[in-house]
Amino acid sequence: MKLYDIVVIGGGPAGTSAALFLEKKGYRIALLDQAFFPRDKVCGEFISPAADDIFSDLGVLESIDDLNPTRLSGVVLSAYESSYLQVDYPVSADGRVMTSLSVERSMLDNLMISHVRNSNVQLLEGFKVTDLLFGGENVCGVKGYDEVKKQFSIKAKVVIDAGGRNSISLRRLNLKRGSSQKGKIALAAHWEGVKELGPYCYMHISDPGYTGIAPVGNNRANVVLVVDRNNLAGANIEQFFIKTVLGNRLRKEILGAGAPVEKIRVMDTLSYSVKKPKCGGLILVGDATGFIDPFTGEGIYLSLRSSQLAVEIISNAFDRADFSSRQFQRYDMMRRKEFREKNILSKALQYLIYKPSLCKRVVESLIRQKELSSLLVGVIGDYVPANKIVCFQYPLRLICEMLKQRQSLPISNSQRLTN
Ligand SMILES: Cc1cc2nc3c(=O)[nH]c(=O)nc-3n(C[C@H](O)[C@H](O)[C@H](O)COP(=O)(O)OP(=O)(O)OC[C@H]3O[C@@H](n4cnc5c(N)ncnc54)[C@H](O)[C@@H]3O)c2cc1C
Repeated sequence: MKLYDIVVIGGGPAGTSAALFLEKKGYRIALLDQAFFPRDKVCGEFISPAADDIFSDLGVLESIDDLNPTRLSGVVLSAYESSYLQVDYPVSADGRVMTSLSVERSMLDNLMISHVRNSNVQLLEGFKVTDLLFGGENVCGVKGYDEVKKQFSIKAKVVIDAGGRNSISLRRLNLKRGSSQKGKIALAAHWEGVKELGPYCYMHISDPGYTGIAPVGNNRANVVLVVDRNNLAGANIEQFFIKTVLGNRLRKEILGAGAPVEKIRVMDTLSYSVKKPKCGGLILVGDATGFIDPFTGEGIYLSLRSSQLAVEIISNAFDRADFSSRQFQRYDMMRRKEFREKNILSKALQYLIYKPSLCKRVVESLIRQKELSSLLVGVIGDYVPANKIVCFQYPLRLICEMLKQRQSLPISNSQRLTN
């Protein structure tokens, strides 16, 4: 049986960033993934501006820039084909012009894995973890099988579960809490032959669901459609995807000349929260800690950030040689505290986007109130504190604007186009 300080399950953004941060501190680490890289992952493929700082701390930002990724200046938002808002990311508190990265996940994840491969971390691809090992009340390793179905066991003082939404800890320890949300499903594909998109991510909300469209370079656009699972009953997936995407006038304008260039990928996007593990020796990062709807496109940032928070706690555990659940409690508190307002905002947006009339009026108000729309994209970009929106004043100003709208003339087309 092999022995490491730390075993990381999963080589997505959460697992690779945790491994790279901890490797710098000199721990003996093994990172296991059931897949071989490059592997694909359904994703909107735009990454919050705030992630740049974490990529920089990890020492990977330069090599991401070497991929010549698309940089987006802001977001376009439309509600039910009527209100249309284009808003740039506001400058950061320290005066930086902020942009978000838009890069294909297979490329980004492969790049992160190549950094792991070139580090002192032992990378084990094709290794599927099937169970956690326990020593008393603490997790002390993992077991599973490799690509030729050979069984393995690996012992470690700390196991980091970065296995995403179906991670082994969630299933083995029954940690997943259901959601009241109806079954949502995402359909995704890269398109080619589309109109020049410009440096924006396009969020178009309409019936029966919303899309995120982002240019990812090489004249390709990534298109993700999120709808209720019921909409798909008995439908041909490809026909449904194309028909629904192009059924919206604004989407048709940008995508109409193009078509998907790959098989449509389908993924469950049901949001969920996760209970704190009761055992020690185990720490969850990334989607294994919970999932909010992908509308705000923050999952990768939140994954990187959760790993950054976990690293501090894990280092403390090694310093004190204490791997008990008590030692890891602070991580859970820190994470919940930091992400609490983001979760509230995400839930509020989820409510809003499925209420057509309210959604249109809010977007109209955001078109008129540049400061409010800038704040919103700054918060969604993860560099403006969420309490600037999740507070009393912001909704109040929005409501006042909506009341004013009732008495004023409709917005002209030119106002609709840019803010
Ligand atoms: C439709 C959709 C659109 C999204 N759009 C965006 C977006 O635009 N921007 C954004 O920032 N985020 C977006 N997200 C969220 C983002 O994709 C996730 O938050 C992110 O991938 C989480 O990273 P992770 O490392 O936690 O998990 P993952 O990226 O899922 O990686 C988990 C890894 O663990 C491995 N693994 C799992 N179980 C085991 C096991 N038992 N043994 C070994 N290996 C295992 C898997 O093979 C996988 O490689 C979107 C999500 C969805 C569903």
